[in-house]
Amino acid sequence: MHRRRNGCLTVVLVLILAMGSLMWYQSQAAARGDVTPPTINTPFSILHPIASIRARDAERATWGVISVQDSAAMEHELILEDAFFRRATTQAWEWRVLLLPTPQQFVPPLIGALVVTSPFGMREHPIIGQELEHHGVDLVAELGTPVMAAARGVVVWRGNKLGYGNCVVIRHGTHLSTIYGHLMRIDVHTGQLLARGQVLGVSGSTGFSTGPHLHFEVRSDGTPIDPLVLLPRSSN
Ligand SMILES: [Zn+2]
Repeated sequence: MHRRRNGCLTVVLVLILAMGSLMWYQSQAAARGDVTPPTINTPFSILHPIASIRARDAERATWGVISVQDSAAMEHELILEDAFFRRATTQAWEWRVLLLPTPQQFVPPLIGALVVTSPFGMREHPIIGQELEHHGVDLVAELGTPVMAAARGVVVWRGNKLGYGNCVVIRHGTHLSTIYGHLMRIDVHTGQLLARGQVLGVSGSTGFSTGPHLHFEVRSDGTPIDPLVLLPRSSN
């Protein structure tokens, strides 16, 4: 009888210790501000991961609307947007992200030969007209073309952003992330683990876009890098 009660006490003590450790970890992470991506209303909870993933997924992607009256204000908005993506691609978000091996090479996000209509680097923005850095490459894609994950990874954000339109952010481990912009439809949810080449949605022309195409972006520790460096060399 005594032994059984001791056993029960041990289990309760271990549970209390485990809960305490989790709460301490969460408070430390919250103090560093690195658990919850900023625009997502439902904080990711280690204790309730499934519920919080579902709640976040409830924010549905909507169609972006272009209205540019004040290009200086718009440039400011785009800088804020870039800061958002920098955070989304660097925050220690989930343990699964940290376990992913860093991919050495990506597969192309579209089937067939990639045609680049706007390369990575400085350019005159096609809509606001200012000299701004293009953080990815624009690839030719008809409306509704399947878009694929360039490597195995976890969807850390999906939703609608001013310039990017309907957009998916995938973390591929601690350093590399990819962003897919101007999508017509998103078929994955936040927290979903994607295989390399898995379809995440279809291309469109949402956000700041002058026509159907895929904006494909690669970030290394939050900083945009030329995606073509990590894609297999094409013959063109
Ligand atoms: Zn682009």
